[in-house]
Amino acid sequence: MNQKLPKVAYLCMEYAVNSDIKTYAGGLGILAGDYLKGAKDEQLPIVGVGLKWKQGYTRQHLNDKDRVVDSYENHPYDGFEDTGKSVTVRIRNRDVVCKIWKATDWGVSELYLLDTDVPENADTWITGQLYGWFGEERVAQEMVLGIGGVRALKELGIDVDVYHFNEGHAVLAAIELLQNYKADGLSFEHAWEKTRAKVVFTTHTPVIQGNESHPPELLSYMGAVGDLSQEEVHQLGGTPFNMTVAALQLCRASNGVAQLHGETARKMWAHVEKAPEIIGITNGIHKPTWVDSRIQEAKDHPDLLWDVHMSLKNDLIAFVKERTGQQLDSNKMIIGFARRAVAYKRSNLIFQAGDAVIEALKAGKIQVVFSGKAHPLDDGGKDIVHEIVAFSRQYPGSIVFLEDYDMDIGAMLTRGSDVWLNNPRRPQEACGTSGMKAAMNGVLNLSVLDGWWPEACQHGVNGWAIGDDHVPESFEEQDARDAKFLGETLIQDVLPTYYDDRQKWITMMQESINSVTEPFSVDTMLKSYFEKLY
Ligand SMILES: *Cc1c(COP(=O)(O)O)cnc(C)c1O
Repeated sequence: MNQKLPKVAYLCMEYAVNSDIKTYAGGLGILAGDYLKGAKDEQLPIVGVGLKWKQGYTRQHLNDKDRVVDSYENHPYDGFEDTGKSVTVRIRNRDVVCKIWKATDWGVSELYLLDTDVPENADTWITGQLYGWFGEERVAQEMVLGIGGVRALKELGIDVDVYHFNEGHAVLAAIELLQNYKADGLSFEHAWEKTRAKVVFTTHTPVIQGNESHPPELLSYMGAVGDLSQEEVHQLGGTPFNMTVAALQLCRASNGVAQLHGETARKMWAHVEKAPEIIGITNGIHKPTWVDSRIQEAKDHPDLLWDVHMSLKNDLIAFVKERTGQQLDSNKMIIGFARRAVAYKRSNLIFQAGDAVIEALKAGKIQVVFSGKAHPLDDGGKDIVHEIVAFSRQYPGSIVFLEDYDMDIGAMLTRGSDVWLNNPRRPQEACGTSGMKAAMNGVLNLSVLDGWWPEACQHGVNGWAIGDDHVPESFEEQDARDAKFLGETLIQDVLPTYYDDRQKWITMMQESINSVTEPFSVDTMLKSYFEKLY
């Protein structure tokens, strides 16, 4: 890439850098972390802006009744330095000082973190818990990220060509830009136009509830929309004010995070008048973070590849033993499944996949290692964890649940499993980057055709599709069909290949590594961002 690339400011609520830095909840943060690592590797002109969370995201453990318990602790992470600078944002009619830190040892390109935990503030807890609160506190966090973010970049003297909002949380940055243009004397319409010219936006979850909205009265009470009139606020984001709708109307270009997700998002937001066309730019992963280099080196040598795989599998088995006391068998197949515990991810589908699957589980021919957190306020999600743990008590040799899902567990599972299972309701998976991690490590994907998988799947060659691309009208029908397909593919294809045709299995591992590594690396994604979005 040449030197005339635009300077990009990337705004995101969470960054996943490594397991010790608890400033991420899930896929959004993983993408943001991998993106900034890729930007560093390629020396791209990208500067990240985020919040310096005092506690970060919830830790989740099981109590003695196998119920999920959340805990937040003050998080003693380091690796950043004081820039000596700060900006002020007026929130709830009080000036809130946002101190600017610079991340120094995180292995990412330039990244600044705003912090309200300073003695001058009455509201030190705004940057307390990532996704820990709703209502006022969430808006306050978004004001610090968006309004504070734009001001911080200015304070630091960074000349920004493109503001990239990773998810709608950052949209108040566009309102700040718009206000600045208005202060220069432009009309609302003209200021809106000028703002759009500077902003691009990545939309994430296609699950409607995952797209936040706020009552307009709350926004004006908080001071989030400056002196815009109710009518202007309504024009930008509707009533209630939807962060995704506003981001779409305040940007000049927008993308979903896989090709299918782009299509889904276009339909989902077709009613948004001033939205640009939502294109698809498929996520990629940061290889040095997620892929074992020995696997990639061994990929052309079948026996060696299997040996390296077995060594990674044994690492996983030892890790499971240490965490849970449960002993898995390295000669039996291990399926990995790690997802947020929420109904549409259907963690329990495998238990509905028919008698033959249950028999194989009982016999230990199929071993499944589950992990995943529930959203701290989602009791339904916590029930799902409880249910999986109950299965692990019932089948201690074949079902495992690992508590407190984080990057370490993610890396262990996507290296050491034999099969990576993913079976969300469609089309509700935005991308599913964990499947890419698995594929590049020679762990074979067994997945419904959602997220990134339709772009990569060659059924029976580099992994397997569960069912076809038909999406039934009702969830009941979809669940029943997919459970049946999952059972059939497991019993007729996956198990026989694993137990009776090791050569073919290894060839599939090679196909998986070869077909996925280059197209789904973060370098490829960054190239697309510069070509198609910036
Ligand atoms: C990779 C990863 C994710 C994102 O993966 P999905 O496939 O989108 O679920 C989330 N959390 C952790 C800890 C990960 O390692």
